[in-house]
This record gives sequence, C-alpha cells and structure tokens, in this order.
Amino acid sequence: YTMLRLILGDQLNAKHHWYQSTNPDVLYVIAELKQETDYVVHHQQKICAFFAAMENFAKALQQAGHEVLHLTLDDTESYTDLLQLIASLCEQYQCQGFEYQQPDEYRLSEQLSSLTLDGVTIQTTDTDHFLLPLTEIDQYLTAGKHNRMEHFYRAMRKRFNILMCEEKPEGGKWNFDQANRNKLKPTDIAAIPQPLMFTNDVSDITERLARHSISTIGFSPQYLLWPVSRKQSQALLEHFCRYLLPHFGRFQDAMTTHSDSAWSLYHARLSFALNAKMLHPMQVIQAAMNAYQQPNSEINIAQVEGFVRQILGWREFIRAVYWLNMPHYGENNTLSANRALPAFFWHGKTQMQCMSYAIKQSLEYSYAHHIQRLMVTGNFCLLTEIAPSEVEQWYLGIYIDAIEWVEKPNTLGMALFADGGIVATKPYAASGAYINKMSDYCASCHYDVKKKVGSDACPFNSLYWRFMAQHRVLLAKNPRVGMLFMHWDKLDDSEQAAIIAQAEHYLNDLDAL
Ligand code: FAD
Ligand code: SF4
Repeated sequence: YTMLRLILGDQLNAKHHWYQSTNPDVLYVIAELKQETDYVVHHQQKICAFFAAMENFAKALQQAGHEVLHLTLDDTESYTDLLQLIASLCEQYQCQGFEYQQPDEYRLSEQLSSLTLDGVTIQTTDTDHFLLPLTEIDQYLTAGKHNRMEHFYRAMRKRFNILMCEEKPEGGKWNFDQANRNKLKPTDIAAIPQPLMFTNDVSDITERLARHSISTIGFSPQYLLWPVSRKQSQALLEHFCRYLLPHFGRFQDAMTTHSDSAWSLYHARLSFALNAKMLHPMQVIQAAMNAYQQPNSEINIAQVEGFVRQILGWREFIRAVYWLNMPHYGENNTLSANRALPAFFWHGKTQMQCMSYAIKQSLEYSYAHHIQRLMVTGNFCLLTEIAPSEVEQWYLGIYIDAIEWVEKPNTLGMALFADGGIVATKPYAASGAYINKMSDYCASCHYDVKKKVGSDACPFNSLYWRFMAQHRVLLAKNPRVGMLFMHWDKLDDSEQAAIIAQAEHYLNDLDAL
C-alpha cells in the first residue's frame, strides 16, 4: 500500500470524500485502542456502541471494495498508543503517505499533530461532517467572551436557508419557545410512544473488555439498544420524525417517572449516531423538514423549529465554542467549586427522587435527556459546588454521546458556569420549584418540595438560596437574576439564617441525602 488512512471511532461517515472511489493502494485502518477505553471510565454501553459501530463500518467499507484493516483490542494490545500503532503499520506496509481526518477532540488533535514518520508524508483532511467549517468559526464568534447562541443560530438559519422565507424567519418568529416546554399531564403520559430500541448482540465485545480488564460503569446488557450502523441510525431518525417530532418541543423540558418510555420521552436519542458521524447534521435537519412539509403533517412550526435549533444552533455553537477556546477552556473554575462528587452518582441510591431517577436511568441506558442533565444532576452539582473536574469525569464517562468537544462546554459552561459565562449568560440554578413544575418526581419523593428548612425539606431549596446569597455580587450583575433577590431580601434575618444553616447541614454530608 502506498497510503495509510486512519479512521477514528467517531469518524464513521460513509459519505466522506475519501470513499468516493476505491483505490487498491490505500489501506484504511480502524482500531480499538486502550488509550481510548481508558482516558476516562466509560459506560460499558458506550464502549460497546463505539466498537460495534466501528466493526460495522469496517465491514461496510470492505463490501464497497476498500482495503480495510479492523483491529480489536486483542490486535493492538502490544502498542503503547495510537502513534506507535501508526508508525508500525506504515513500516509494515511500506507506506509513503499517512492521512487522517481532523479529530473533534483537542486531545487527539494534539497527539496526531505530534506524529513524525521517517520518509512518510503526513496529511490531514476535514471530516466533512459539521455544517460550519472550522476555519470560518471566528467570523461568527469571538474567543474568550460570551457570544449569544441566538445570534449564531439566526446566522446559521440564513446561511443554510433553513426555515426562512427570503430574509424573514418562517412563521414570523425565530423562536417558538413560548408554545413549547409544557409539563406532561396524565393523558399525555399515556400517549408517549415506545422508544425504538435495537437488539445488537455485543457479547463478543463485552468478553473482550473483560479479557483486557477495561474498567467500566453502568449496566451491561447482552443486547445493545443503541444504533450501531448507518441503517439503524436512519431507522431511528425515521422513527423520530414520525412518532416523536410532532411533540418534540412541547415536551422538551418535561420529566416523569410514570411511563416505560419516561427515560426517553419525545427526545430523538440521535446524539450517538450524530457524534459518531453515522448521520450527517444536514441529513437530520432535512428529514425533520420533510416530515414537517408533508401535506397534513401533524408537526407544527414550533416543534420543527425547536428541533432545528438544537442541531443547527446548539450543536454547531457548542463545537465552535470548544474549538475557539481550547486548550485553556477547561481551566477556569469561576465559582471556586471544590467539593467531591457524592458516591450516589455511581449507584443512584439517594432519597432525592429526581436525582435517583436521573442517575439510575443514566446507569441503565447510558442516557439522560437534556433537562435531566442540566436541571437535575447539573443543577445539583452547581448548587453544591462540586469541583468541575469531578463533574466532568462523570459526564464524560457515563453518556453514550459523551465526547469532549460537546461534553466540556455543556458541563463546564452550561451546567456549572465554571467558564464565567462563555456559554451561558447566567448560572442555570434552580430550586425544587422548577423541578416540581416540570416533573412528577416530587410527589413520590422523601423530601417535601414546599419546605426550605426542616429534616425533610427539599435540598434544592436551601441549597439554591445559599448559592444565590453566596454569589450575590457576581449574579446581581445580570438583571434577570438581580430580580430574584427581591424575594430573598423580604425574608427576615432569622429566616435567612435558618435556610443557610439547612443548606450547610446538607453540604456537610452530601452522601446522606
Ligand atoms: P434531543 O433532545 O432529541 O436533541 C436533538 C439533538 O440536538 C441532539 O441529538 C444533539 O445532537 C443536539 N443538541 C441538543 N442540545 C445540545 C447541546 N446543548 N449541545 C450539543 N448538541 C445538542 N450532548 C452530547 O452530544 N454529548 C455530551 O457529552 C453531552 N453532554 C452534556 C452534558 C451536560 C451537563 C448537558 C447539560 C448537556 C449535554 N449534552 C451533550 C447536550 C444534550 O443534553 C444532548 O445532546 C442530548 O440530551 C442528547 O439526546 P438526544 O439525542 O435525545 O437529544
Ligand atoms: Fe427533587 Fe426536591 Fe422534588 Fe425531591 S422534592 S424530587 S429532591 S426537587
């Protein structure tokens, strides 16, 4: 072979320009590596999903006539890392060139750019995945400061001509959030569709993980429900457009325990397929647009706009923030948070119903939806001032879709405000009232959501007010937050002191909650 081309586990893009023609002189390599299974403790389903999808991708390329080397952990165990493997393969096959697609993670990008190979030319190329080219990000956003997602999103709508009537937004508004974000009533709960789950046999992979003593977290089913091929990813996309998109925005922030589908609700669960690049973001947007544009479609503009905003807005925005601010993005800890993550994050045994439910479902499915991540577990870590690095390890390990470029700005920026406001304008801090408004968790909780003090007072209440009082100087700068202090200031000193004491009592032993 004259050329070796590397395919990373999250570069499973069958439409990539590399594959437009076959060339017997090019050898593709796709490899399971310990450096990837071990940089954080991953959920078992996450590793299984990546490994199974990589194997399927290698097979599909072979069937299309490409030369592909698919290496398992058994084959790569003697190499210390990715660079050593590449050097060895280039030598073994006497390659004159080595090519790789630009990694999405800074960690891998740095590693690969440090590669030197005697007599072999090294080239890099784009992944052909994201909508906004990396080189154009700085035309829209500025490094080191807050950029409004809304402005970016509108610019993307115009640039890609999505939901636009010439220069105006379709439906006359850019944002239909007011029509969205309802709580689920009992009749709504009964109507939630069953999630589409696959039954991929991953027993070979789990045996391999055990053989190589790979540490993992979470439940390890024999059959993996996540999509691990392009065909399955497309089936999940179709299922979403048909059954879930009609109510996507409406119940985007809702949470319940009263349904077998409570863990997935109307969410797409497409993040793994997208992040592994088995689906292209424009393909996902177009599928949603087609479903919306069908005659007699049940999907209204509020639902489709809410969904387009996630893919064309949030996903591209988060990736842009990551690349603009790395490598120093993760170093800030604006709120000086330094507590340890309570042990119940690893088993879900806590009397807080909302936390228990969100954590247990994350362990069971390697998935929680956005509001569970942001307003339940994320909010808890914000209010209890858990060290950002500890929180990040948890999010990066547990979720099926967790890759640093998307996990880091979401965790450090959106959930913890550790970046001082690069992603969010204000901390997403909330008391139990918010969780009660959007869910039915509180009704069956050991704690009383109405109480701020007392042994059964909802911990989110006192923790919220302590957090607000503690960071008052910083928070009051934001007019939207400043208003909230009016409520606090009306309480007399003894009431304030009792709430703070209650919060301190909880903070002293988070594991007892
Ligand atoms: P849906 O709710 O159906 O949304 C559709 C799609 O929109 C998602 O598949 C995703 O591609 C995109 N999207 C929506 N919100 C975001 C966002 N904030 N950032 C990027 N893309 C978004 N997402 C990840 O892909 N990987 C992560 O590691 C990750 N970590 C997160 C950590 C925290 C603390 C928070 C608050 C959010 C995190 N998110 C992450 C964003 C979001 O929660 C997930 O993308 C979403 O829950 C995936 O489920 P879904 O496909 O059912 O999404
Ligand atoms: Fe969560 Fe508080 Fe409601 Fe319990 S009462 S479920 S701890 S918000």
